[in-house]
Amino acid sequence: MKYVSTRGNAPVLSFDDVLLAGLARDGGLYVPQSWPQFSADQIRAMRGLSYHEIAIEVMAPFVEGCLTRAELTELVVDTYARFTHPAVAPLKQLGRNQWVLELFHGPTIAFKDYALQLVGRLFDHVLKKRGQRVTIVGATSGDTGSAAIEACRDRDAIDIVILHPQGRTSEVQRRQMTSVLSANVRNLAVQGTFDDCQDMVKTLFNDHDFRDTYNLSAVNSINWARVMAQIVYYFASAVALGAPDVAMTFSVPTGNFGNVFAGFCARQMGLPVEKFIVGSNSNDILTRFFETGSMTADGVVPTLSPSMDIQVSSNFERLVFHYLGNDGMAVGRLMDEFRATGRMDMPQGAYGAMREMFEGHRYSDEETLAVMKVMRAQTGEMLDPHSAIGVAAGIKGHSYKSSTLIALATAHPAKFPDAVEKATGFRPPLPEHMADLFERPERFDVIANDLNSVRDYVATFAERVRT
Ligand SMILES: *Cc1c(COP(=O)(O)O)cnc(C)c1O
Repeated sequence: MKYVSTRGNAPVLSFDDVLLAGLARDGGLYVPQSWPQFSADQIRAMRGLSYHEIAIEVMAPFVEGCLTRAELTELVVDTYARFTHPAVAPLKQLGRNQWVLELFHGPTIAFKDYALQLVGRLFDHVLKKRGQRVTIVGATSGDTGSAAIEACRDRDAIDIVILHPQGRTSEVQRRQMTSVLSANVRNLAVQGTFDDCQDMVKTLFNDHDFRDTYNLSAVNSINWARVMAQIVYYFASAVALGAPDVAMTFSVPTGNFGNVFAGFCARQMGLPVEKFIVGSNSNDILTRFFETGSMTADGVVPTLSPSMDIQVSSNFERLVFHYLGNDGMAVGRLMDEFRATGRMDMPQGAYGAMREMFEGHRYSDEETLAVMKVMRAQTGEMLDPHSAIGVAAGIKGHSYKSSTLIALATAHPAKFPDAVEKATGFRPPLPEHMADLFERPERFDVIANDLNSVRDYVATFAERVRT
């Protein structure tokens, strides 16, 4: 399988190059040159397979030419054997034709584990084969940092340094990062804000000498391999509920559009999907887009669902590429327009086609809390604020349809205990594998909000294995 950039002006790459490259050189995102196809019979044959068996079927065509089936199998089995539910991504019934897909049984109890755990292993595998080593540097406001650290800890070919704003993450979020004492992991508590952290990371990446010397890399949400690994649970859940003989409607609480785009990939590969419902919080750029056909950037306001507090959705470009008929030049023009003016308008025909497949619904914090309360009372299901938005948007959009609804639950309620307690009066306990989180020793280095200090720190850390 080969990959092309959504801006049509970067080299065509193989899977392993795309994995390590992240963003394309023309500023675009990599997408597969063609979609692997699964016939109805092939999808039917997935019934009864385990999660990891379906993962191998779904991902094998994407890594063809880079990983043998035996190599892929080893990585996939190792990845999902560590998840705490035997089904890996279990389904729970909410009502007639309505289900929740729990994607929080990985090490950091949020859905990003489902992809990042595999991506960490893929990085290590490819780098070792090439005799290379990378330094992953990232900034986090809380959630992605822990998922990235858990994915990279103890890997031979990876060092990872994560910056977080000192005192500005929740205690659970901090401890999930700082209680990892692996030799290849460092946490920096920066005396500044999340934006300061992110600006310093960006500056380090833009310093090409520094970047090349230490082989800086990122595992951010535009990485194709993350999208690829997320396609698996769309197939697995749909097949468990009768696909391909029943069509599904998926509802997805959305930020950067990586998760729901993976569902769209599954559809392109042959999975029957009636609709994708996108759930937004008050940062509703996507819902506004699906209502109007124009994308307009706005400020970000903090909400109870921080992982969806985004200004623009980076993965949306992949969808635009598809609906503009894979015309990279046209995508480039729209993106330039958006960067220059803060607004872009989809051509009417393309917008009409998008509307047949997607709709969006937004929820304020008050509405989100109300949904959490009602769901707990009616079904016993405790939802975190992100998942509650997905469920609410799903039920709203699904009510008149004949397909089966699958609402994605993207975080464990114990990850957001304050909001859950406020909504339901019940404080959800941490799952067993994390129950001692508050007793675990922590390690982190406090550092000034100063680029040179951070640069020296990363250099010294990376140097220790480069003699
Ligand atoms: C990252 C995240 C999201 C948003 O997913 P995208 O792929 O960025 O759309 C939703 N919920 C939770 C809990 C997350 O961590």
